[in-house]
Amino acid sequence: MRAKLVAGNWTMHGGLPDNAKLLTELVAGSKARSRAQQAVCVPFPYLEQARSVLRGTRIAWGAQNLSQYAKGAYTGEVAGAMLRDFDCAYVIVGHSERRTLFGEDSSTVALKFKAAVDVGLVPILCVGETLAQREAGETELVVDDQLAAVTTRFGAQALGSAVIAYEPVWAIGTGKTATPEQAQAVHAHIRRRIASDHEGVAAAVPILYGGSVKASNAAELFAMPDIDGGLIGGASLIATEFLAICRAADG
Ligand code: PEP
Repeated sequence: MRAKLVAGNWTMHGGLPDNAKLLTELVAGSKARSRAQQAVCVPFPYLEQARSVLRGTRIAWGAQNLSQYAKGAYTGEVAGAMLRDFDCAYVIVGHSERRTLFGEDSSTVALKFKAAVDVGLVPILCVGETLAQREAGETELVVDDQLAAVTTRFGAQALGSAVIAYEPVWAIGTGKTATPEQAQAVHAHIRRRIASDHEGVAAAVPILYGGSVKASNAAELFAMPDIDGGLIGGASLIATEFLAICRAADG
């Protein structure tokens, strides 16, 4: 049985006083005996703050991006080893905002995935279709291609040290959530697709759903057999919401 994971993606939000309040409330509200794992992925400058508040608690932390390069003259980039210096456990790779707004193609995403795995970070690999792609019946094709960018280079086994997040682009930050059935269908497809290469990895890899998850819809999404938790954007900035979503993952 796969453990559930609820990971917050703060995106480009936060500030020292607000973060201190949010992190402290998360620590105070996280259940000591929760079965679900919890994490927050924060902007780079706040990694040390996250570490100092979350160290020794049940909540892990991570980043939202990393360089595909290990080190060198890459102005403005942040290497995976630097994230490890701040005890990050996770890093998001291939978020749709990075793909569409910052021009990250699938081969760059694959290199970032590998850069994360190489230093012992768990990549949260985001895949998902746009509304136009869904309406054209291309959802499975799109997520297959995004996964294949990693598996053809590094083998399906590489997904064994990763988390996948299915985030339909049309549901991110829009308030429009996929129905549990819509999400389950894509999650099951992803698992079948991986199973065709490696059954053990397919059975074990956590597949999170992301896209306007809130306290009010989390439980029905997380009840689906192939949904192993969530990647939470807006609602991860509100302690009561995020904690309620974590409780929903606890069943
Ligand atoms: C996200 O930013 O990854 C996300 C899923 O956002 P939201 O939950 O706000 O849709």
